[in-house]
Amino acid sequence: PTISQLLSDSIRDVPDFPKPGILFKDISPILSDPALLRHSMNELTATSGGQKIDKVVGIDARGFIFAAPVALNLEAGFVPVRKKGKLPWQTHEMAYSLEYGENIVEIHKDAIQPGESVLLIDDLLATGGTAAAAIKLIKQLDANLVAASFLIELTDLNGRELLGDTPVNAIISY
Ligand code: IMP
Repeated sequence: PTISQLLSDSIRDVPDFPKPGILFKDISPILSDPALLRHSMNELTATSGGQKIDKVVGIDARGFIFAAPVALNLEAGFVPVRKKGKLPWQTHEMAYSLEYGENIVEIHKDAIQPGESVLLIDDLLATGGTAAAAIKLIKQLDANLVAASFLIELTDLNGRELLGDTPVNAIISY
C-alpha cells in the first residue's frame, strides 16, 4: 500500500463518541506512528503551495498538534485559536452554533499583524462551523488568509461551503 493509503487506513472509527449516534474519526494511530506523523506534517506543509506564510493558525486542541510543526517547516510563527477563557491577554471572540447550543473561540488581538499571510490548520473539517469562526477572527485582524488545510474532510457535511472564498485543502477525504 502507498503511504496515503496507510494514512487513511490508520484512522480509527469510534461509534457513539462523544455522543450516541456520532461516528468519531480518531487520529491517535497517526500521531503514534513516526512515518505517518511525518507524512501528515509534510502534506499539510505542502498546502502552502510555496507561498510565504507569516503565521500558521491552529485550532484548539488537535489543530495545535499539526499547526506547530507546520509553522516550523514554513519558518512561520504559530498562533492558537482557543476555546473561550483560555487565552490570558486581550482577545477578539467569535461565537458559532453547534447542533445543540453554541461555542465561542478567541484569538489574541496582537497575534497577527495587518497584511500578514496566514495558513489555517485543523485536524478535521466536519460542518465547518469551527473553521468558519476561526476564519472570521483571522479576517478581523486584517490578515491575508492563504488557505485552510485539514488532515481530514468529511465531505458529506459540505463544511467547505461555510468557508466562503477561502481555498480549502484536505489530505484525506471521506
Ligand atoms: P465542525 O465545526 O463541525 O467542522 O467540527 C470540526 C471540529 O470538531 C474540529 O475542531 C475537530 O477537531 C472536531 N471534530 C468533529 N468531528 C470530529 C471527528 O470525528 N474526529 C475528530 N475531531 C472531530
